[in-house]
Amino acid sequence: MKKIIKVKCTGTGGHINEIDLEDVLGQDVILYGSPIVTGRQIPARIVRHCEVCDEGKVVLTREMIEDSL
Ligand SMILES: [Zn+2]
Repeated sequence: MKKIIKVKCTGTGGHINEIDLEDVLGQDVILYGSPIVTGRQIPARIVRHCEVCDEGKVVLTREMIEDSL
């Protein structure tokens, strides 16, 4: 089971990007159904390029990550 967060890109298209938390945080950080056990800080924000367009960015904040866990 994966943890996916859907985030709209900032481009005009507003494309929905599915961000895999394991992909951005690392597998060791996520324990399903539990708060994050960290040896590692969650970054305040993660910015990725939109998978669909060139102009858009996908911004994932720590709050969004924590809300999804
Ligand atoms: Zn886009």
